[in-house]
Amino acid sequence: MKVYGILGDPIGHSLSPVMHNAAFRKMMLPACYHAFCVSSDRLGPALKGAQALGFGGLNLTIPLKEKALELVRPDRLAEAIGAVNTVSFREEICGYNTDGWGALRALERYGVSVRGRAVLMIGAGGAARAIAYTLEQEGAEITIANRDVRRGEDLAGSVGGLGVGLEDLPALVPQADIIINATSVGMKEGPRLFPGSLLHSGQVVFDIVYNQRTELLEDASSAGAQAIDGVMMLVYQGAGSFEIWTGQKAPVDVMEKAVRESLLGRTAGHT
Ligand code: NAP
Repeated sequence: MKVYGILGDPIGHSLSPVMHNAAFRKMMLPACYHAFCVSSDRLGPALKGAQALGFGGLNLTIPLKEKALELVRPDRLAEAIGAVNTVSFREEICGYNTDGWGALRALERYGVSVRGRAVLMIGAGGAARAIAYTLEQEGAEITIANRDVRRGEDLAGSVGGLGVGLEDLPALVPQADIIINATSVGMKEGPRLFPGSLLHSGQVVFDIVYNQRTELLEDASSAGAQAIDGVMMLVYQGAGSFEIWTGQKAPVDVMEKAVRESLLGRTAGHT
């Protein structure tokens, strides 16, 4: 039996165990997946311990993705992004990042191509970095709006895009083909990033928050724009990890079903 897991802090509400255990069952692999609460200062010993114990692989989440870079051998994409969300144990501890690929596959799943399209991404944190690098490789024209303008400009500079502040959103939102919310606004209560009246039909609005239907997506639907939530990005980033670990094609439909059922249970109060 191979053991896999996700490390993070906090980790209690991660959907990764239910998603990956469903995949392992479907593929009849002798494997199990658990969540482990690991703080930043314990990441090094946790990775070495998992390697010594013969773990199959790990996912990393907040606050460990950036810290992991100095503890593993990252591939070129993870190094460019500056964050690791997937670890595999070979002779060395290897690091990958499947978040951007997950976002791209999610957009494709809903029939959205990014090549040559004007993408306005709000956010410049870990998830935004992964998405920006992947979409740039796919030929998107990227503008990045971030609360911390300098951080947004730095990311935009590294993907050949334009970096702006949130105060520029009213001018930019109506011009964009695809608007991506990669901030944590929407996960919790808080003011909207921009008025919903700026959106219009023909646009795609992708909010990578996956644990609830956000106000942004409600605004997009009301405006006749295509509204895409973060569930399929979560599923496809997990599928990317699964394929790195096992070399087998991930059962995406089974993983999606497990995630959606788990989210429904939470909405109904059965956490
Ligand atoms: P992060 O590295 O902490 O970045 C957070 C981003 O949100 C930064 O750009 C930050 O701006 C911005 N932000 C936070 N509060 C804000 C506010 N009140 N107003 C405006 N901007 C604000 O987090 P992350 O790992 O990138 O995650 C971001 C979101 O993506 C979370 O909701 C997470 O759950 C979601 N996510 C989803 C998936 C998926 O598979 N669907 C995968 C990864 C992450 P500053 O730079 O100015 O601080």
